[in-house]
Amino acid sequence: MLSSSASCSSSFTAEEGKMAASESDRDPTSALCSEFLNFSAKDTATWWLAAADLQHEVYHHLAVYVPRILCLGPSGVGSSREEQREELACQLLLLAPLEWFLLGEEPAARLAQLQQNNQPSPLCGHVFKVGEPTYSCRECAADPTCVLCMQCFLGSVHKNHRYRMTTSGGGGFCDCGDTEAWKKGPYCQKHTPTDNSRDTEEDPVAQLPTDMVARGYSIFSIILKYAVELLTWEQEDQLPEGLEPPERGDTYYCMLFNDEVHTYEQVIYTLQKAVNCSQKEAISFATTVDRDGRKSVRYGDFQFCEQAKSVIVVSTADLTRPLRVQVMHSSVVAHQCFALKALSWLGQIIQYSDGLRRILCQVGLQKGPEGENSSLVNRLMLNDSKMWKGARNIYHQLLMNSLLMDLKYKKIFAIQFAKSYERLQSDYVKDDHDREFSITDLSVQIFTVPSLARMLMVEENLMTTIIRTFVDHLRHRDLQGRFQFDRYTAQQAFKFGRVQSLIGDLKYVLISHPTEWNDQLRLKFLGGLDAFLELLKCMQGMDPVMRQVGQHIEMEPEWEAAFTLQMKLTHIISMIQEWCSTDKRVLIEAYRKCLSALSHCHSGLSDGEQPISLSLAGHCVETFRYQVSQDKVSIHLPVCRLLAGLHVLLSRTEVASHFPEQLPLGELSPPLLIELPLRCLVLCAQVHAGMWRRNGFSLVNQIYYYHNVKCRVEMFDKDIIMLQAGASMMDPNHFLMIVLSRFELFHIFSSADVRKRYREANKDVVQQNNTLIEEMLHLIIMVTGERYVAGVGQVEPFDEVRREIIHQLSIRPMAHSELVKALPENGNKETGLERVIDSVASFKKPGVTGRGLYELRPEWNRYFNLYFYHYSRADQSKAEEAQRKLRRQNGEDTALPPPPPPPFCPLFASLVNLLQCDVLLAVEGAVLQWAVEPSGGGWTESMLQRVLHLVGMALLEEQQQLENNSGDEDVTFNYTSKITRPGEAPSTSGSVLALLESLQNAPHLEVHKDIITWILKMVSNIKTMRERTSSTSMVNISPGQGLEEMVRDKDKAERKRKAEMARLRREKIMAQMSEMQKHFINENKELFQQTVEELEASTSAAAENSPPSLESTCVSQVCVGPKRVSGAERRQLVTCILCQEEQEVKGHGKAMVLAAFVQRSTVLSKNRHRNLPDPEHRDPLFMHPDLSLGIHTASCGHIMHATCWQRYFEAVQLKEQRRQQRLRGHTSYDVENGEFLCPLCECLSNTVIPLLPHVHSADRSVDHPSLEVWLKTTNQQIAALHSSHGNRSDSAAEEAEPAVPDGFRVDVIPQNPFSSSISEMITTFSMSTYKVGLKVNPNEQDHRVPVLSWSTCAFTIQSIEHLLMDEEKPLFGSLPCRQDNCLSSLTRFGSACWTAAPLKTVHTHFIRLLAALVSDSQVDATLCILDIDMFHLLVYSVLSYSSVHSLDQSGQSVVDSAHLHLLHLVTVAHLVQILLTSNTEEVCMDQDTGGSQEEELTCQLYNTLRKHLGSVLPEVSSGWQLWRCVKAGVLPFLRATALFFHYLNSTAPPADLLVAGPSQWEALCSYLSLPSNLLQLHLSHHTLLEPLIHRWCCHPGVRETLQGGGVIIRFPRESNRLIDLPEDYSVLINQASSFTCPRSGGDKSRAPTLCLVCGSMLCSQSYCCQTEVEGEDVGACTAHTFTCGAGLGLFLRVRESQVLFVAGKTKGCFYPPPYLDDYGETDQGLKRGNPLHLCLERYRKIERLWRQHAIAEIIGHAQEANQTLVAIDWQHL
Ligand SMILES: [Zn+2]
Ligand SMILES: [Zn+2]
Ligand SMILES: [Zn+2]
Ligand SMILES: [Zn+2]
Ligand SMILES: [Zn+2]
Ligand SMILES: [Zn+2]
Ligand SMILES: [Zn+2]
Repeated sequence: MLSSSASCSSSFTAEEGKMAASESDRDPTSALCSEFLNFSAKDTATWWLAAADLQHEVYHHLAVYVPRILCLGPSGVGSSREEQREELACQLLLLAPLEWFLLGEEPAARLAQLQQNNQPSPLCGHVFKVGEPTYSCRECAADPTCVLCMQCFLGSVHKNHRYRMTTSGGGGFCDCGDTEAWKKGPYCQKHTPTDNSRDTEEDPVAQLPTDMVARGYSIFSIILKYAVELLTWEQEDQLPEGLEPPERGDTYYCMLFNDEVHTYEQVIYTLQKAVNCSQKEAISFATTVDRDGRKSVRYGDFQFCEQAKSVIVVSTADLTRPLRVQVMHSSVVAHQCFALKALSWLGQIIQYSDGLRRILCQVGLQKGPEGENSSLVNRLMLNDSKMWKGARNIYHQLLMNSLLMDLKYKKIFAIQFAKSYERLQSDYVKDDHDREFSITDLSVQIFTVPSLARMLMVEENLMTTIIRTFVDHLRHRDLQGRFQFDRYTAQQAFKFGRVQSLIGDLKYVLISHPTEWNDQLRLKFLGGLDAFLELLKCMQGMDPVMRQVGQHIEMEPEWEAAFTLQMKLTHIISMIQEWCSTDKRVLIEAYRKCLSALSHCHSGLSDGEQPISLSLAGHCVETFRYQVSQDKVSIHLPVCRLLAGLHVLLSRTEVASHFPEQLPLGELSPPLLIELPLRCLVLCAQVHAGMWRRNGFSLVNQIYYYHNVKCRVEMFDKDIIMLQAGASMMDPNHFLMIVLSRFELFHIFSSADVRKRYREANKDVVQQNNTLIEEMLHLIIMVTGERYVAGVGQVEPFDEVRREIIHQLSIRPMAHSELVKALPENGNKETGLERVIDSVASFKKPGVTGRGLYELRPEWNRYFNLYFYHYSRADQSKAEEAQRKLRRQNGEDTALPPPPPPPFCPLFASLVNLLQCDVLLAVEGAVLQWAVEPSGGGWTESMLQRVLHLVGMALLEEQQQLENNSGDEDVTFNYTSKITRPGEAPSTSGSVLALLESLQNAPHLEVHKDIITWILKMVSNIKTMRERTSSTSMVNISPGQGLEEMVRDKDKAERKRKAEMARLRREKIMAQMSEMQKHFINENKELFQQTVEELEASTSAAAENSPPSLESTCVSQVCVGPKRVSGAERRQLVTCILCQEEQEVKGHGKAMVLAAFVQRSTVLSKNRHRNLPDPEHRDPLFMHPDLSLGIHTASCGHIMHATCWQRYFEAVQLKEQRRQQRLRGHTSYDVENGEFLCPLCECLSNTVIPLLPHVHSADRSVDHPSLEVWLKTTNQQIAALHSSHGNRSDSAAEEAEPAVPDGFRVDVIPQNPFSSSISEMITTFSMSTYKVGLKVNPNEQDHRVPVLSWSTCAFTIQSIEHLLMDEEKPLFGSLPCRQDNCLSSLTRFGSACWTAAPLKTVHTHFIRLLAALVSDSQVDATLCILDIDMFHLLVYSVLSYSSVHSLDQSGQSVVDSAHLHLLHLVTVAHLVQILLTSNTEEVCMDQDTGGSQEEELTCQLYNTLRKHLGSVLPEVSSGWQLWRCVKAGVLPFLRATALFFHYLNSTAPPADLLVAGPSQWEALCSYLSLPSNLLQLHLSHHTLLEPLIHRWCCHPGVRETLQGGGVIIRFPRESNRLIDLPEDYSVLINQASSFTCPRSGGDKSRAPTLCLVCGSMLCSQSYCCQTEVEGEDVGACTAHTFTCGAGLGLFLRVRESQVLFVAGKTKGCFYPPPYLDDYGETDQGLKRGNPLHLCLERYRKIERLWRQHAIAEIIGHAQEANQTLVAIDWQHL
């Protein structure tokens, strides 16, 4: 321990020394200055031109300069000046000579000229940055990897097509101009070739002057060689020959390399220890290492660097492997650094000319001296995995800019790439970097070009190479050579993960199938198929399972790897089939190969087994002795399934119908073909039946995926097809017997004894067998009924998709994305949904919430098949219920008969005979026979239902055959006659038909009655048809539907009867229900009572608060001043939601409280950049008019006893304390901060507001003093207070004792009007606003406590006034009850809270407030009136005045006159404020000077102001304009004031203010007891006000502010809106993609996030931008909320298309974004890529939530609803 710390400290001093030394050694500017001046690039180039050995000269130049320019010391954190210097020196000393040499003259001019003469290739080739939007056309792109950049897309035809938008992961380029990439419209406007475009065949080099060509070759080859040498250089201390520096210092770098093994935390921790840096530096190092792949972490002499290296290596050695560190000589680092710059330079130079580009291509691909694979490009590629990330990125980009942009060299490069394919992939698999940083990732650029892929396949045997390379990497096999994934180790799994990218390559090669075949291609493709079959053989039968009996399985086997492989191969298998389908010869040959592969797999299947013989219903068959429940079985059968796929393809060719003898069938007997798929299906059935419970979840998961939409196409679906194929080649009876035997059910149907034994067996076994029988019947339904695969049935692919959609929509209406998810995608990520959807469904648009839904059109209901094979059991029962309900609603019977099936293709035609074969009839007969007996567990409803379905299918088949029969031949399908035959052994009863007839009226089968009736009707119809055809064979047969209708017509009466029955049944049920309800109410009487009372309480509250409108129309209402009218003195009764007791609100009663939530708010802020002073020293007495931080209070309106609430809150606290020990802090509310959920509505709350009684009516017996008198009195009172407080200044002390007005007694202690419980609650709420508002700990002694209580009252009123204004609602009467309650209790509380504070404190506040307007010699340093929000001033002074008034014992004055005078004073001050800040620069059209009195007076006041301020105020001639300004500016103040006095004095509002409208002004003024010409206020107290105005104007702050010394707040203050968002979402993505992290030097941000409040883009969820806030590291979003939103924020996460709400550090939730696709859905996570457009209504809704201060509540509800949200580290976003 000791030694390590010692070494640490010594290294510290050493480092200090080194740093200092290196700092002084190099003074870069002066050292290089003379070089700069003396150096001439032109001369150097001339010198080189004459040189005999150019490479020698160039190398010498580089050897001299590179170490002197680059990497001169500890590359400090972000020293941009240093970087600029390096950049400049590089350009001037190193690159400029190269340019001069190449171009032969002034580079800039020559390059411009080159570019002008260049006829560029039509390829765009724009290389994508991380996060940049890319577009792909779903109609025209050859495959989904073909993309356009935004610019090209906007100029292309595809912007009007169906397109997909994604964000690029970086790398890759725009395919605009590539004719192979687009089926249509390959060029955008910009890249459309013009007539004089160069012929693509022409050599662009010929366009260049020959001397330049020669110089180009020589300089390019030297520079490229130099770069390649250095990037692949592995020595740390030496340089290649010719590059050794002239002077070599002992200067080294300790270079740390990136790996994907160590975490950020590990690296940061290690670095802090090893190089003794701060955490911040360590983070910066780690970030750079991760981004660039390496970073020097120390600079100094060799010893010094070695030391750091060994610390790093030692301290990471105990991890999986140590971090890679190298000590490198500074000159090596410098040259490597320049090598990268040189490569970038090459990349730039070739952009000017296609000729130069081709020269570079040629140089790069020229064979080196070592022959094959020795070109410079080859050397780079082969060393790819050894290079660091930064180097790889730069040369990959160069390859894209050069080789891939030149059509000729792209091909040559492709061949090189393919030749090295195996080696490159092996390197990649061993490497640990992500694929995007590997050269192998270029495969997407090459293999997706169909012509290249085809060429590589033919010439380089690419398909085989890829598959073999892949198989080679999976060496873990079992004894039979099959893959063995079930015991994979972590390392194997990791490698497997990397190898999978090869499947991606294979997919690229196969993604577009050839339009033309030749023999070469056939040969290579079939060769590839051979390799592929080898791969499939390794999968056939892998990971087999064995049924576990007795004990539960010990260890769950690993199953995911095998399924991952299957899933990845799904598209490949489908694509191979697609290829085969395009060529008959290939198809037949592929079928042969596949068949022989399968024979190979089957060898040994039946070895040494004696066949067993089965007989039933007069038929006999031999089969294996095999039981799924006792032998090994595997779910992986890819060879069988590929064969099934090919079989269907064969069936679609004309070979199948015309030359069946040519088909390569028959090498395997049909029973062998069906054997394995059948086992797999039986396995599923047994798992359903619960027979495999002990095998654990691994098997359940496998079965799930087997049926899942991602896998089923090449698993489950193909197994069904294989059974169909096998059955079609077999005797149906034999097929069924084998099925019965595999299901282990044979004996139940063949022997009555066995059957009897089973029925008497234990319940589990019976149930098991019942399930198995159901599954078996379902399988037969599927084998005979699933005909929607083209090739099996006579349908088109279109029909198949349509049928899927019909069945999805039969479950319920669905959104577009749900449908997409339910359909399998092809390799192009298409489902075919769009082509079909409109024909079967109608679209319903979404509202402001929810999403658009598709609903099935009713005419498609008849295609509903209850046994649709892709339904899960849950889907099936939901669909059944929905369909029955629908039919009932339409007044139809509820039978769900099978839908009419399409006919089979010839190859499968014989399958229909299954429906009428003897064995099936025997099975049907048996089940029907069992169903006769109602009791006993021997059969199930679903079993019967399935049998009835099968019967129905057979009848439909017969009917169709009869209808389609032209009469030439007999209809061989004769089910109707077969079911009349009497039953055979073992069922001894009557015929199937007879059984059906007897079941029709069985009372226990009521549910099945409708379908049985349907069946019997069908039977009789068919009989009629047959009779008719036999008598007159040419009679027209009515079409199927007509027939069906006939059946239905006859049924009408029956249906009516049933409807009546149903009605009676419903009534009975209703009666029962209401009985039950009564019972329930009796039992839960309290609860019920409570809800009823709540309802009453809320309505009564509303009634009390809703203004009595009739009353108000007759009397003119005044809410302030001596003439005010008070609300009727009513007893105010409220009910506690907790104890349900009623309580009157009284000053001396029990305290009642309102649950409330107090929060800081910046919603009204007009200045988001204001820095708030330290909370301990903040003086909140004056609110700045920018309203930058307010305190908002909201309430859900629920009332409790204070004591009830306290008990409740204590219980919550206790519960939380107990819970936190287990699950710390996992709640949506923070108990430690006083938060709780309202016990009734679960609304987030953090305090309670006490309810206080009404104030009394104004006392009209007392005189109302004039303003002058009142002011004089008040001044005297204040003087008295000053002297009693003893805080008078020295000068004041000399003055005479002030005259104290009569009855004013400073020593009076007013009586507290409130009971102790109310006082306590007043303190509680005061403390909450204090604590939240200032973010400090509670302190009841703080003099600021009452100010914050007043503040929340004023601010809440102000914000509600804004809301009402914005929503154009009337000022009164439109607030919801809860807000009304909240404002009223807040205001009454505000007027009473002074009683809880020391009198002196409140007096001092009042004195200071008044002094802001009226001079008071004893208060110094008053504020400039432009820095005061007048509404807050009014509210504070009115509320604090009561405390002064309480000392007046004279009884001669009333508070009301004081309120009115205060209002008048403040209003005048506000008018002055408005005039001072009025924006008069607006030119007014109306110069009409015939002004009204208002206008004249306004001008008068304005001129007074100008008198004081002079030219600071512009001259305004139009009084009209000024008056308009004043009126608009003062209106919000008046409205807020009206609200305030309304709640303070409980005065009913006038009728005019109950509606929104123009007559507001007069009504407002009169309600507020103000003259409607407000300027009258000024005029009537002219002499009094003049000196005040003079004082206001002469405050130095006024002049300063108006002359631009600060933000001028103008009135009216407009409401803040959220920022404007673009209509098209991709604009945002584009913006975000060019956004770079502000901390890590030009790096792309990974999670760019937009603040919706101020529009800042932030680098969220990333180490680089973490900041410390209040002692904790938080992410950029959280940090931003503290400056922008007082801890609350609304963001848009651009890459995710997700709105993020955060509150504080621990709370947040996601919210649906306001962007919708055409299907009315959001795309959170941008997964689907449909174009997104702004939905303004939704955005406005978010904005409203913000303005209403409802975000915190939304978060609370979201977290309550979804517990996982609580666990997210919101603070790191
Ligand atoms: Zn482009
Ligand atoms: Zn283009
Ligand atoms: Zn298109
Ligand atoms: Zn109570
Ligand atoms: Zn509530
Ligand atoms: Zn912001
Ligand atoms: Zn960042």
